[in-house]
Amino acid sequence: MATDLAKFAEDNGVKYFMISFTDLFGGQRAKLVPARAIAGMQKDGAGFAGFATWLDLTPAHPDMLAVPDPESVIILPWNREIAWVAGNCVMNDQDLAQAPRNVLRRLIAEAAELGMHVKTGIEAEFFLLTPDGKQISDEYDTAAKPCYDQQAFMRRLDVIREISDHMLELGWNPYQNDHEDANGQWEMNWDFDDALKTADKHSFFKFMAKCVAEKHGYRVTFMPKPIKGLTGNGCHAHISVWDAPGMQSKTNVFAGKGEGQTGEVGLSERGKHFLGGIMKHASALAAITNPTVNSYKRINAPRTTSGATWAPNTVTWTGNNRTHMVRVPGPGRFELRLPDGAANPYLLQAVIIAAGLSGVRSKADPGPRHDIDMYAEGHTVKGAPLLPLNMLDALRAYDADAGLKAAMGEEFSAAYLKMKHQEWNDFCGHFSAWEMANTLDI
Ligand SMILES: [Mg+2]
Repeated sequence: MATDLAKFAEDNGVKYFMISFTDLFGGQRAKLVPARAIAGMQKDGAGFAGFATWLDLTPAHPDMLAVPDPESVIILPWNREIAWVAGNCVMNDQDLAQAPRNVLRRLIAEAAELGMHVKTGIEAEFFLLTPDGKQISDEYDTAAKPCYDQQAFMRRLDVIREISDHMLELGWNPYQNDHEDANGQWEMNWDFDDALKTADKHSFFKFMAKCVAEKHGYRVTFMPKPIKGLTGNGCHAHISVWDAPGMQSKTNVFAGKGEGQTGEVGLSERGKHFLGGIMKHASALAAITNPTVNSYKRINAPRTTSGATWAPNTVTWTGNNRTHMVRVPGPGRFELRLPDGAANPYLLQAVIIAAGLSGVRSKADPGPRHDIDMYAEGHTVKGAPLLPLNMLDALRAYDADAGLKAAMGEEFSAAYLKMKHQEWNDFCGHFSAWEMANTLDI
């Protein structure tokens, strides 16, 4: 990996760097910096007016500097003279506490102090739409059960293959691509990795998929529920914890025999407590994993035309069964099926670690396992909380969860809640066609 970006540019024929950071709403912001200036930027950072992005800052704040993390550098496979690099936000010589990548870095360090190194894989589902975003790009993709549709796949082979080729070139070890459960929907999978690396790859994947699709005349959306009646865009996270980071990991500390039902599915005591933390904080962490108004049209949806939403609405866990919020598909890992395509890549990883660590510290119990089809028999489960019904409920649940707020950082939590409440108020000020149709003649 590069440590000196000027040398990296020289060795690789890179002419420009895109120094990027992610704001509280998941927006990726960047400056394009010629290689001749990168040595200075690597030392001092690229300057941004933070108020101009979705961060809780004012126009009077001093420059926010995005200091490139050389470990994250990626040469754009579709434009090899440009390299993307994630920046860490700094203000007044200190990490900006509300900046999402900083929140994650701090939690990774906290977990490491407990000998825990979280690795995750994510499944970033997306739709390919027409450039105006109004329809599915393939007019023939209309089957009631379009999942894995071979013919529809071939009609979009050029764009999917190109993204997959890029991931191969980047060494991400992609291993499968498929047409997903909604018309026009896709999923591409690559290997799991350390949480920060997965967050950087997740960010870059969204950027890359959009760039490639636009080149082909399509538009990619990760919007949680872009089309009424069809399955939404999930961003399922597969979580395991190891004894060391990166290639040094030898032991999966989630694997093994715990006590009770988690032991039966192959989760160790630590794995059980980590899962317990996720279950305990689920309603609050939805404010991060499902961060938009639209998110709640995915997790509280009626049955889709394909027959299932593939999204949870209740805080339950089980073994290898996709109808619950958490699935334990095999020993040593579990899948959180709650997050959606709008989740901020850094905050998603951060909140998983924050909730998990809280569970480990308090030896949280994940509660009973439910081996039922939640879509058909969910009403029979007693005592399991329902997930928030809308963004305001989720923000209130987050605000009421002092433990999670503290774990994510008080400064971050205050900034996030303030900005998200402003967004909710903006939404409430919007007059909808539904209101007119149902209120005009009252
Ligand atoms: Mg999927």
